[in-house]
Amino acid sequence: MTDLLSLPLPELTRWVTQELGEPKYRAKQIYSWLHKKQVRTFGEMTDLPAPLRERLAGMAEIAPVETRLRLESRLDGTKKYLLGLGDGNCVEAVWMEYHHGPSLCISTQVGCRMGCKFCASTLGGLVRDLTPGELLGEVYEVQRQTGKVISSLVLMGIGEPLDNLQNVLTFLDILCSEEGQRLGYRHVSLSTCGLIPGIRELMDKKLGLTLSVSLHAPEDEARSAIMPVNRQYPIGELMEVCREYFAVTGRRISYEYALIDGVNDTPQKAEALARLLRGQNCHVNLIPVNPVKERETKRSSRGAVERFARRLGELGINATVRRELGSDIAAACGQLRRQGAPGAAVPNEDIPRQTSF
Ligand code: SAH
Repeated sequence: MTDLLSLPLPELTRWVTQELGEPKYRAKQIYSWLHKKQVRTFGEMTDLPAPLRERLAGMAEIAPVETRLRLESRLDGTKKYLLGLGDGNCVEAVWMEYHHGPSLCISTQVGCRMGCKFCASTLGGLVRDLTPGELLGEVYEVQRQTGKVISSLVLMGIGEPLDNLQNVLTFLDILCSEEGQRLGYRHVSLSTCGLIPGIRELMDKKLGLTLSVSLHAPEDEARSAIMPVNRQYPIGELMEVCREYFAVTGRRISYEYALIDGVNDTPQKAEALARLLRGQNCHVNLIPVNPVKERETKRSSRGAVERFARRLGELGINATVRRELGSDIAAACGQLRRQGAPGAAVPNEDIPRQTSF
């Protein structure tokens, strides 16, 4: 079965004319139903003749993404969704209300193989990549549930977007297309643990999105201890490509730094971080780490977070402590899926579950 939600308009047009033997304009109609009206079934495509709708249902599918569970914050309207996929796997998405409009954080893979020591998403390794249609399905399903349209998108849920880059690029191509939802690339943020070849590919495409880099430590030894990916792509090379990224795209990089008690939160680490980033046009997002049951990482004290932020400020580094939304439903990313996923995870045996950095 071909998943029509995964096809950009030129490919859908090829499919409609060659596989279906229908005229080109039918592709535009179908694309509009899928990506503007965002329907879930062929039966809803009411300007297509009934026999055509039936043929479509026999030959193709619309990637199913359904809400399995929703947690809503009583404090600020943040909503966390556990979304079920066609094969029984689940991912998470988080809806946040900001004064500039709603923002959605979505997952890019079922699980993750990057192995960061403080993260819940990677505990069971990678199960499989999400398809472009499933990535779109996350957005469309949560919009259906809330009755609102997002004004920004964050690729910062479960998974490593640059480990599923081709599907992520196709997804963004469709979401940002003129005939689709027309989200501007400027309203998209993509977060990576630092896969350099993927950063280069993004840079060359000059899409105008915001790149967030999960740094979490200013020196190789400490970073490798909590992020195995650093052994393959060490800090020096990562900084080089980040500087280049700004030079080529003009987009300021945002560095994520999760503060872990006794690991990376001392004033000395703040000073090393300031030395590392000196001269870069960038921003540092400080996040008190979310404790994960299966991990021993502890959140830094409020005092340590404030001292760290102050020291960075004194040294001329632009840093903010991330405002915590939905703290009453604050399962760390990946925990809801581990606790609540109804049905067993169905692994794709073609993909190694863990990388060996
Ligand atoms: N794989 C990508 C995006 C997903 S993780 C990346 O590494 O950037 C999104 C962000 O959440 C990353 O900055 C990640 O390091 C951070 N993160 C993961 N687990 C966390 C935790 N327990 N507490 C705080 N931040 C965490």
